[in-house]
Amino acid sequence: MKTPQLDTIILKATSRCSLACDYCSAHAPDLAAHPSRTFSPARLLECLAALDNASLLADTLTLIWHGGEPLLFPHDHACQLMDDIRDFADRHGLAVCFRLQTNAFNLPPGWLQTLARHQVHVGISLDGPQPIHDAARHAPDGSGSYRHAIQNLQTLQAHDIPTAILSVIDARHTGHERDYLDWLAPLNVSARLNPRFDCSGTGHNDWNTYFSFLRHLFVAALNHPHTFRLQPLDWLLQTLIHGTPPQECAFSGQCGQHLIAFTPDNRLAPCGRLADNGGPCADWTPATLAAQLASLRDSLERETAQQRLATDCDSCPILKCCHGGCPAVRRAEHGHPEFCSQFRNFIAYLAHDGLRLLRQRLQDERRRTANLIDDLQKAMTTHQP
Ligand code: SF4
Ligand code: SF4
Ligand code: SF4
Repeated sequence: MKTPQLDTIILKATSRCSLACDYCSAHAPDLAAHPSRTFSPARLLECLAALDNASLLADTLTLIWHGGEPLLFPHDHACQLMDDIRDFADRHGLAVCFRLQTNAFNLPPGWLQTLARHQVHVGISLDGPQPIHDAARHAPDGSGSYRHAIQNLQTLQAHDIPTAILSVIDARHTGHERDYLDWLAPLNVSARLNPRFDCSGTGHNDWNTYFSFLRHLFVAALNHPHTFRLQPLDWLLQTLIHGTPPQECAFSGQCGQHLIAFTPDNRLAPCGRLADNGGPCADWTPATLAAQLASLRDSLERETAQQRLATDCDSCPILKCCHGGCPAVRRAEHGHPEFCSQFRNFIAYLAHDGLRLLRQRLQDERRRTANLIDDLQKAMTTHQP
């Protein structure tokens, strides 16, 4: 079988972070023991060349700066690395784009210029209105990070840098769906809503809280004057309406197939999430890289197949929306798949009441638009000379 090509490389540039969020999965126990691991740009370039030699790179490549907090990576090195990667891509006929996921607590001026120059798409971790955000996302001294993050979001937007928001959803959000949307509307960005994962091994992901929030948020968004871009709601609706495959590795059945993470200690991991919570990682040399990558993929595929068998995914009514889910998350749930029942309930809701409410909103909009066109035509007739 042909080895799938990589289109996404996650650069876990440093294990350091400026914040100490309550739910940090990157604050794995070994973070304290290795507080300043920071990857080597030269090793990354060597890795890219080896992947290209082995024909493992897709024609269009996305590199995602991640951490820890990637803006703690020295700016001059980052700037040089992005220039070098662009040179590399030009020489090898590849298209390349950069993304960056940040807590936006600090935005060093040098980084700002580089982000603007490379038109880096910046995802900012903001959990919602200030009281909700600051309740979990704070500096090591306990002070909230909201004020800094929102100011830096505005600075990025003022420099025409594309931005989006990533929110971690947990019990802080319950009952605040409308508040979340009122807060989001003027920011004029798309939002990705993730559950609060506990990948540390204690297995207490609160899926009920997450899917309840998504359900209420969906209804609140349909009744809101603003139009929102909310993930995963948008792609789930696309899957239900058009049958298009889910866009995320976690639900597309493509786990580990098209992406790889380069860790702060210059190793390779199948993805950022697994790199954070003790999943399989590989040391590599240019000569062994292809074999190491294949072995990482094999072990992930075996794990996924075992998990799918254990929960009988192949007979699951929502298989096309889930494809077995994310093995890193399921591993942490210790075979107590609360996720399955909660996700099924949510999809059942979306596929019936959800689509009915969506159709109603679209019909209302069509009626309003038709009325507006009538009024305009009348006004134009009245004012004709
Ligand atoms: S910003 Fe991210 S890496 Fe930093 S402490 Fe918070 S969750 Fe962890
Ligand atoms: S383990 Fe999960 S996050 Fe990582 S590649 Fe697979 S599905 Fe995606
Ligand atoms: S909901 Fe559970 S059983 Fe259904 S496809 Fe997803 S992981 Fe498998």
